Amino acid sequence: VRPIVTADILAVGSELLTPHRVDTNSLFLTGRLNDLGIAVRMKSAIRDNPRELTAALTNALSNADLIVTTGGLGPTADDLTREAVADLLGLELVERPDVLAVIQERFARRGAAMPAINRRQAMAPEGAIVLPNPNGTAPGLLLEQGDRMVVLLPGPPREMQPMFDGWVVPRLADRTRGRRLHRRVLKVTGRSESQVEEVAEPIYAAAGTAETPVETTILASPGQIELHLSSAGDDGQTIGRVLDEAVARLAEALGDVVFSVDGRSIEEVVGDLLHRRGWRVAVAESCTGGALMARLTDVPGASAWVLGGVVAYANEVKIAELGVPAGLIERHGAVSEETAGAMAEGVRARLHAEIGVSITGIAGPGGGSPEKPVGTVVVAVTTGAGTSVRRFWFPGEREVVRRFSAMAALDMLRRALSTS
Ligand code: AMP
Ligand code: MG
Repeated sequence: VRPIVTADILAVGSELLTPHRVDTNSLFLTGRLNDLGIAVRMKSAIRDNPRELTAALTNALSNADLIVTTGGLGPTADDLTREAVADLLGLELVERPDVLAVIQERFARRGAAMPAINRRQAMAPEGAIVLPNPNGTAPGLLLEQGDRMVVLLPGPPREMQPMFDGWVVPRLADRTRGRRLHRRVLKVTGRSESQVEEVAEPIYAAAGTAETPVETTILASPGQIELHLSSAGDDGQTIGRVLDEAVARLAEALGDVVFSVDGRSIEEVVGDLLHRRGWRVAVAESCTGGALMARLTDVPGASAWVLGGVVAYANEVKIAELGVPAGLIERHGAVSEETAGAMAEGVRARLHAEIGVSITGIAGPGGGSPEKPVGTVVVAVTTGAGTSVRRFWFPGEREVVRRFSAMAALDMLRRALSTS
């Protein structure tokens, strides 16, 4: 039989075509399949309608090596996946006494008799492998037909996921002949997506070889651009070398805006830098309201390098808790280089930290002015050796400005800790 290289995912359930339920199963499955070097060719959400289900299955069967369905294995009349697949493949549905016994046993354990409608869940197409479901009544089904594999899984994620990992992954691993997806992620901050693309494009266009093609994806979020390089195949060593070469070239071309080539987040990078110096950070936040502190303390072990901080939203708090001179705020404004610097210096001194950081800005939608429009943010970082302050202007809504701001502060911490 041929190895399995492509897959289609069908999410079955009318509820998935309303705003009340999201198809998350296909995301989980895509992740797992990609890791096995299997590319998802198409995914769809289909109503509980036999005609539409059959049409979608027919299309999938004519195109992909592997078809995975989730949902529609329940006991109720609207659950039709089992019947539709058996029909289409021309397989008889037969009752499996072993499966029936397991379902009956499940009800008996709770002191109930099995409702008659659950009997349907013991039906399996002839030749199907039944996948046990320790978390529910609907067993999964796996069919191998020539080169093709069809897997039917229950809809609830807590039933579907362990079933896929426990029973389907090992069988798929046998059918992928050691093919795996290898991936490298390069993370950049302080550049826009198009700036990164401009520098990176010639490099990733030339990356890889005919035998080891490299696929690249660029993903942007506020303050962070990720470059994903991946290649699937069975020669992990060669692929690893090809990917590492491309990463090294990209890192060299992009320079110090690259903060991670090993999957670490910027808060992890900053945490490591602090930890290695034996330094602790103190944080003063205005417009981010604690978002920077939340990210710094997301990292396990952060108590070793995060001392604490002050959310100084109102000017009174900047004055009373951080020691920012009232006159300084009056003269320059709460969003100014002077105030940001005094906030960072104040929090560092009061908490006896080695390094202090502050953020003050206008997240909007109100509060802007011609000189300081919404999105104006000032970040300061201070150590015993001095204070650096930068003014930014971040486009976007309140939440976006706040995320950009926390990211900028983390990057200024990273830079201060990498050099001074
Ligand atoms: P079913 O197996 O069709 O009885 O599905 C039962 C329940 O599983 C649904 O009501 C949903 O809450 C959940 N579910 C079904 N399909 C999905 C999906 N694709 N993603 C996430 N949850 C799902
Ligand atoms: Mg359903």
